[in-house]
Amino acid sequence: MNAMKAARLHEIGGKFQIDDLPVPVPGKGDVLVRVETCGIIPNLRNVVTHFPSWYPFLPLPALPAIFGLDAAGTVAAVGEGVSAFKPGDRVYVNPGVGCGECRHCKRGEPTRCDSYTFMGYFGFGENSESIFRKYPYAGYGEYTIAPTTNLVRLPQSMPIAHGARLGYLGTAYSAIRKSGLRPGQDILILGATGTLGVGAAILALAFGAGRVVVAGRDPLALARLVALDPSRVVPVCWEDGSIQAQVRKLIPDGVDVMLDTLGAKASADYSVDAMKAVARGGRIVQIGGVAGPIPIDPHPFMCAQLQYIGSLWFTPAEGDEMAAMIAAGTADLSILEPRPYRLENINEALQDIEAHGNGFTNFHIAY
Ligand SMILES: [Zn+2]
Repeated sequence: MNAMKAARLHEIGGKFQIDDLPVPVPGKGDVLVRVETCGIIPNLRNVVTHFPSWYPFLPLPALPAIFGLDAAGTVAAVGEGVSAFKPGDRVYVNPGVGCGECRHCKRGEPTRCDSYTFMGYFGFGENSESIFRKYPYAGYGEYTIAPTTNLVRLPQSMPIAHGARLGYLGTAYSAIRKSGLRPGQDILILGATGTLGVGAAILALAFGAGRVVVAGRDPLALARLVALDPSRVVPVCWEDGSIQAQVRKLIPDGVDVMLDTLGAKASADYSVDAMKAVARGGRIVQIGGVAGPIPIDPHPFMCAQLQYIGSLWFTPAEGDEMAAMIAAGTADLSILEPRPYRLENINEALQDIEAHGNGFTNFHIAY
């Protein structure tokens, strides 16, 4: 166990190359994980091609660099002071690392840290560069290093490939938590057949939502979501006209919660229309980053006591809660279809997911 293979980016806009590297040794409080799967992110090509010019305030790791979010595998070695994990444990690596020192990090909310950094992706602040130097490994290498506090223990019953989806699932999980959805309340998922949306639908059912209104473009894909629970999942196809009008026909008072999962390429017109389907006192949670702006008229917004909430990623503690739901069988991921790729084919995988990606296919690297 002295050498490993890793796919590294050597220049902005270039392709990933397979390089031989020494296997790293975990430092104090860190864990070495033998990666068995890693997610393939449709946005990664944008990140490694356009982010330096589009978003210069979101730093990338210094090149050459290993990328790859959502790694899962087996603990291979632990550093000094690590007692909660031991070699052989099956884990998911939450890639988000904060500074560890600010008031948000101290409260266990690293996603609010202004240095928050995704190992193997990009960072949000000036201090991200020092976090990348400390944690230069990620999921597109045979081994990675992570702080022990970032590990989520996976249930034995969970196929390791499902670990590659925990980033998307966790993003939806944290959003539903922040929405305060109660059992029996109704939720609208905008963009429900996308990668974020499918996970959100699975979790909304697990949270005990009364009706899960799934809004999307493709009626066949919506029908697959309805099949998860035909008595609770209600499809709304936006090709059939206004989302708001269709939802109000089903639920005249409106939905208690709306999750907006639409990405930056979607039209915010759908979001603006769908928000009018939210009941008085309802919450709208933004997790997709649809290209705005979204107008809010303060007076009616105030009178209806609506809330608009932004939510980024999820904490390792939320990952533990989600793993418990998967272990209990309340969150059922069996609808996901595996699409494994070898690490050597990472460039092809990134092309395929851009061309053929849908919310039901679990594109991942399998080692
Ligand atoms: Zn911090």
